[in-house]
Amino acid sequence: MGKTHVDTTTLWQTALGEIELVVSKGNFFTWFNGTRLLKVDDSVVVIGAPNVFITGQLERKFDSLIRQTLENQGISPEKIEYKVLPASALHRKVADEAPVIFRGSASSGSSGGATTTSLTHSYRQGLNEKYTFDNFIVGSGNDLAHAACQAIAQSPGTKYNPLFLYGGVGIGKTHLIQAVGNELLAQNKDARVVYISTEQFVQEFLDAIRFKKNTDFAGYYRSADVLIIDDVQFIAGKEKTQEEFFHTFNALHHANKQIIISSDTRPKDIPTLTDRLKSRFEWGMAIDMQSPDFETRCVIIKSKGQQQGVELNNDVIEHLAGYVQNNIRELEGVLNQLLAFCEMRNLSPSVEVATALLGNQKTRPRHVSARQVVEKTARYFHLSVDDLLGPKRDKEIVVPRQIAMYLIRSELHLSFPKIARELGRKDHTTAIHSVEKIEKEQAFDPEVKTAISEIKEKIYG
Ligand code: ADP
Ligand code: MG
Repeated sequence: MGKTHVDTTTLWQTALGEIELVVSKGNFFTWFNGTRLLKVDDSVVVIGAPNVFITGQLERKFDSLIRQTLENQGISPEKIEYKVLPASALHRKVADEAPVIFRGSASSGSSGGATTTSLTHSYRQGLNEKYTFDNFIVGSGNDLAHAACQAIAQSPGTKYNPLFLYGGVGIGKTHLIQAVGNELLAQNKDARVVYISTEQFVQEFLDAIRFKKNTDFAGYYRSADVLIIDDVQFIAGKEKTQEEFFHTFNALHHANKQIIISSDTRPKDIPTLTDRLKSRFEWGMAIDMQSPDFETRCVIIKSKGQQQGVELNNDVIEHLAGYVQNNIRELEGVLNQLLAFCEMRNLSPSVEVATALLGNQKTRPRHVSARQVVEKTARYFHLSVDDLLGPKRDKEIVVPRQIAMYLIRSELHLSFPKIARELGRKDHTTAIHSVEKIEKEQAFDPEVKTAISEIKEKIYG
């Protein structure tokens, strides 16, 4: 009573201005973009953020900074609460509230928001605008997947639900499924398109449990119009997440919302995937994506060159298309290397330059095999390959064996059963546990970390 009304918007803008000065630009963008101050009184301040992942991080990592900043504005609440903003608030706010301006990027032209961010990004998170149908080259290997994705973009939730795309690394799965999301948003900017990598989904889910925000988490995903979940093979071995995903899947499917899934293998080959999820994944349409043939690779190179303003000769194009055969990401990498090299030396791209350049890199095996990884790992630890493949369970052997499995997973993206086989193990859950264990250990064990980076150097160097 009688208290001056606190203008929360202005207050929070001021606070954000201060916070922006002390955290990195990346952190600021990731964690504070789209936050709002919902309530201020003596006992409590409530801060809203677009999703549970962000509220969790704000609470865990930035609570004292936020408290400090608010104190500088004369606000010292007993507690700060973090709440997920309802989707409706996110959209409404875009229209009637001034967006946060980033000082750091104020140099570029500000015609209608290039330097601003708006709250709609909560539902765009993860979608990269560069992946469109326009710049996707259709050819053998991907034509079926492309047709299905286009059909979905025209009428989501009606035809192939779920759409399950699977295939090897670097052949355009992420590009295509993101293109669907971008296309839907182009048609309707309010569409709730949620794109998420499975690894992030798992992480968010664990955070939601830890911070007892399961319902926010579930609500967020279940209110999507289109849920795109990438690299679902990473859900292997994550029982609780599988269960949660099962319910999300059912809720969305029941409401005729579109679900799009990518994976490196067909559903039945994902180890430890529960039968009920397996069968859900097979409900709609599963499409196998193959690496594109020579001609398609040529068209891709030509078009990637043009995107960078370079018209490549046919012989250069064909040379590169012959050089990398399975992986478009690697193909792009080789092209970029060539273009950068030519630009620095003021040369025009030719077969001679390409041969000279890529020839120099011969030591870098283009197709590293699992066997090579095992050999390099064994050598690094002064063990024999037989030690790694054999039955011994001494710690000196077990850890290197686990590191080899981890490297095969992270570098070659083989499936867990394949990894187990490469290491002479019968049970693929051994591979899952090893990979997870090393993933964790390398974060805090400098020896493991060093071993991994040095073995990688041996593999590629
Ligand atoms: P995946 O998810 O299957 O591992 P990505 O979708 O990430 O592969 O593709 C790897 C790279 O190759 C991306 O930069 C993507 O834009 C590009 N790419 C793949 N296929 C095509 C294609 N048909 N046309 C144009 N670019 C492609
Ligand atoms: Mg991908």
